[in-house]
Amino acid sequence: MRVAYAVSSLDLLLWWWHVDVHIGYCRQAARTVAKRYGVRHPPVDVKAIATAEGLRLVYADIGSLDARLYRNGDGWVLELNPAFAETAQRFSIAHEVGHLVLAHDGCGSQPEHERAANVFAAELLMPLDLVRSALRETSRLGDLTQRFRVSKEAMLIKLDEQHLLLKLTSFE
Ligand SMILES: [Zn+2]
Repeated sequence: MRVAYAVSSLDLLLWWWHVDVHIGYCRQAARTVAKRYGVRHPPVDVKAIATAEGLRLVYADIGSLDARLYRNGDGWVLELNPAFAETAQRFSIAHEVGHLVLAHDGCGSQPEHERAANVFAAELLMPLDLVRSALRETSRLGDLTQRFRVSKEAMLIKLDEQHLLLKLTSFE
């Protein structure tokens, strides 16, 4: 029998704000992974990193879910919903890489693990040093989301957490 873990964007967002985790540790774990794969410019090739970390990515019709992680033999399979935006898919992939790297047993069972995976994902997709250097070239939210291939919501949360929101001159 295979065990599926459901992931929904709303749950991720709720968990993001309400559960305490060791944020510095999760960010550092993401920076270690980014360094291992030579990330120097956005957008981060999160699919290549996930595959190299042992996550098998497949597209599947999974209804209203954006992604679903399950164990298959010794490895993990991540089903992605092709109906979701590329930015959502990229965040889901980075989130699941977080669970793998942080040695969690799956996705969706423990709120603190979900928040930790989100902190990891945000730092992997939007490494702070790369965000800072991008902000020296543009102050438009739309430019940043295009460069990093993340959603506006994800970039706004990242900028807010790093006290960089005031650097923006345009939310378009
Ligand atoms: Zn998760």
